[in-house]
Amino acid sequence: MYSILHVETSNFYRTLIEKICSDIGAEYSFAKNLDDSLNVLKSRKIDLIITAIELEDSTGEDLILKINDSPYKNIPVVVITGTDSDEYRTRMFSLGIVDYISKKSGNDEIRSAILAYMREDNVFQKMAELKIAVCDDSKMDRYIMERIFTMAGISNVEYYESGDELLASDKEYDIYLIDMVLKDMIGNYVIMKLREKGSEAVIIAISGVAHYKTISNTLNIGANDYIAKPFNNELLLSRIKTNAKNYILLNEVKQLAITDVLTSLYNRRHTMERLEDEIEKSKRYENPLSVMMIDVDHFKRINDEFGHLSGDVVLKKIAESITKTLRDFDIVGRFGGEEFLVVLPNTSIDDAFSAAERIRKNVESLKLSKKDITVSVSIGVCQWSGDELKNLLSEADRLLYSAKTNGRNRTER
Ligand code: GH3
Ligand code: MG
Ligand code: MG
Repeated sequence: MYSILHVETSNFYRTLIEKICSDIGAEYSFAKNLDDSLNVLKSRKIDLIITAIELEDSTGEDLILKINDSPYKNIPVVVITGTDSDEYRTRMFSLGIVDYISKKSGNDEIRSAILAYMREDNVFQKMAELKIAVCDDSKMDRYIMERIFTMAGISNVEYYESGDELLASDKEYDIYLIDMVLKDMIGNYVIMKLREKGSEAVIIAISGVAHYKTISNTLNIGANDYIAKPFNNELLLSRIKTNAKNYILLNEVKQLAITDVLTSLYNRRHTMERLEDEIEKSKRYENPLSVMMIDVDHFKRINDEFGHLSGDVVLKKIAESITKTLRDFDIVGRFGGEEFLVVLPNTSIDDAFSAAERIRKNVESLKLSKKDITVSVSIGVCQWSGDELKNLLSEADRLLYSAKTNGRNRTER
């Protein structure tokens, strides 16, 4: 949980910030003076410090100086104050605070500032999960970067001494830091090769050569950013962080674009794309490929009897059940309202039929929250015969239709 230390003497502001924290789901700790603040910092993990200027026994400035000289120096500090002059602000920022909020600001403004720091922290946590590759032929520079990463708590980093070594590795990374002058090749070549392989990772070029033509060429061939050597630790980290943030957001957007909001399954468009890919693979490797078309039985009745919202919950549960029944590499998509398309790579019709029967039985025995809701599905399942995609789908549809006319809660092949 995101945890905030608030250092303040006024009860009014204590109540205000405590309320904001509880609204946005952050943990709130409180201190009135320097000693209490340090005790809180010692006793629990704090992600953000918000301090007033007038404290019980000292000032916010004393507190910041003390923190800057302590193991807690990397915790961001925000000052909230009624004292507002340009000179004072400048002095506070020169001590490394991250924000300065006037007490005249409204509740909403304070709240959005705190939320912004929470989100930032979230990005940093996600960043710790990203895989980073460093390619630098200088042992010294590799060592410096290793120290920077270790101090920032980033541990998913692997180091390469040469471009060849990096390109020969079949590992994929989210972030590459590439020295532009390597012994065996120029960094630009490494970047070009990575992009040729289809990498959509963040690539940051690092170099002591800072001619604008060199830099713009490197960016043109596919680097996302450029950092000059020798680098400042904090700046290096924040450049990586900014790039990582865009990368994380972009991936979230990409994920949203292929996902159905209600069920979290793939949406129709993406399922079709995946089916096309699997047909290509199936041709190439001569593996069998099967598909299922699944439709919920009498779903309209569930909506009519229990309401649309309960209908949504039922759809989600069915989607979950289908996914759980199948293997990780099977592709499950929401094809229409209460209709699902499943693509089963490397699967013969016999195996696909068994899988469909497992799905049908699992859905039939689903425990739904309202005791008297029972639900079933009908399934058409067929194997791809080398024919066109649209014929494969109409065959699955035809079989599904037979399952319906033959009594529902059935699989037809
Ligand atoms: P059958 O056994 O023949 O498939 O009968 P059915 O009632 O399931 O078929 P029909 O196609 O007549 O009705 C499907 C219903 O599914 C109608 C539609 O309102 C409902 N539906 C489609 N999408 C959603 C959704 O996202 N949420 C909910 N709650 N209902 C949906
Ligand atoms: Mg239906
Ligand atoms: Mg239907």
